Amino acid sequence: MKKVNIIMHPLVQHKLTELRKRETSKNHFRQLLREISLLLAYEITNDLSTNEVLIQTPLEKLKSLKLSGKKLALISILRAGNGLLDGVLDLIPSARVGFLGLYRDEKTLKPVRYYYKVPKNLNTRDVILLDPMLATGNSAIEAVKILKESGAINISFLCLLAAPEGISNFHKSHPEVSIVTAAVDRELNDKGYILPGLGDAGDRLYGTK
Ligand code: URA
Repeated sequence: MKKVNIIMHPLVQHKLTELRKRETSKNHFRQLLREISLLLAYEITNDLSTNEVLIQTPLEKLKSLKLSGKKLALISILRAGNGLLDGVLDLIPSARVGFLGLYRDEKTLKPVRYYYKVPKNLNTRDVILLDPMLATGNSAIEAVKILKESGAINISFLCLLAAPEGISNFHKSHPEVSIVTAAVDRELNDKGYILPGLGDAGDRLYGTK
């Protein structure tokens, strides 16, 4: 319960340092995020089950390991989640993919769903939710609630940076959902940005600022 796995792999940390820099260009930011997400996906999938199958190499027969068990579904929270999605798909090209769009209602400040399309039978899949920034945690909390309503049972959350406040909020609502991240930063500012952070991930990915 309440598991947070911070991936301290030197390649992840080096690429994260480059990504955080203000002067990093949009192209480079996108490329770095893709590379980091591949490495994070490697970690988040390290307990997938395997079984032995008999194969024929050019020289001999061999009992070798193959993935078994549940299939994966990757769910991207629009739009910044798509920055993680490409790298994860590089590693797991056969995964099914879903998208969830949420915006913040100005009056209630609560996340409201505007788009939702996910693979069928989520209850039979290992579900990985993708969003680079776990800030207040509100979107991630809502996203997991929606996925559970769709039948998802085994969910994990993959992000790039997390704020302590976001982790704590998220685990109050979904204590069983483990988080994999490259770093836990110091705090949120009064606008909900992660400090020291990297700014607005969506804007930096897509050049919208
Ligand atoms: N979303 C972002 O893109 N950046 C933050 O710092 C917080 C939320």
